[in-house]
Amino acid sequence: MTVTRFAPSPTGYLHLGHAWSALFAHRAAQDGNFLLRIEDIDPVRCRPAFTAAIFDDLRWLGLTWPEPVRIQSQHMADYAAALDALRGMGLLYPCFCTRREIEVEARRAGAAPHAEDGGFIYPGTCRALPAAERAARLAESAQVNWRLDIGAAMKRTGALSWHDRAKGHIVARPDLFGDVVLARKDVPASYHLCVTVDDHLQGVTLVTRGEDLFASTDIHRLLQALLGCGTPDYHHHPLRTDAAGRRYAKRDQSVTLRALRDAGKTPEDIEAMIT
Ligand code: GLU
Repeated sequence: MTVTRFAPSPTGYLHLGHAWSALFAHRAAQDGNFLLRIEDIDPVRCRPAFTAAIFDDLRWLGLTWPEPVRIQSQHMADYAAALDALRGMGLLYPCFCTRREIEVEARRAGAAPHAEDGGFIYPGTCRALPAAERAARLAESAQVNWRLDIGAAMKRTGALSWHDRAKGHIVARPDLFGDVVLARKDVPASYHLCVTVDDHLQGVTLVTRGEDLFASTDIHRLLQALLGCGTPDYHHHPLRTDAAGRRYAKRDQSVTLRALRDAGKTPEDIEAMIT
């Protein structure tokens, strides 16, 4: 039995790229085993109106899914439990660095900004803070990022791999990310943590999603090993692009399903536009 999911974040209206991704997951699942999940843990970027629009647009496209739909913001206790487990293993530490401090420290160590988002791999500054200083700063800091000690985590799990239906056997290199943030004071669970916990709890056997998330799977594989979650099969698909070869983006209103529907397009027209 294959169980897939489509897991959009309600930060805007769904566009043609989402339609392709949702249809891809729907086709890969056997009857009734395509799940919809709403990834709305970030209260600043996510809006209930966009969640309602996701349901509406996907129904219009002709997709069906079992109820209830998992809405991540309603399951914070599950993510807190996973964080506690990692904390209990001594693998989480609080980080007090600002983006600017990370940049200065990373550049000092000779690092270059990451090509995708211009950010820097965390240089590990707070990993070695003495216990007393850590406790004092925890008590006084408004902004705290909880980071996973990737080196210690990998020591614990040993070598890991996963399988992608397009690219085959993949040796996981979560160390290439540096110590990722798994929770913040204002958003107490990260994408990496929630997606790993949810795919496990929902019995997802095949994760289909865009290639832009390919590298994240190394982190998810590490978290699965630490938290005792099974490893699904993966199929990362190329991102759809417009006629000029540009990725569809939420900020381009003309390619949202909503706008296309208002302009008189049918679900069949949408399928024809993306295949
Ligand atoms: N919520 C993520 C997004 O909208 C997708 C997560 C996933 O498929 O793992 O980009």
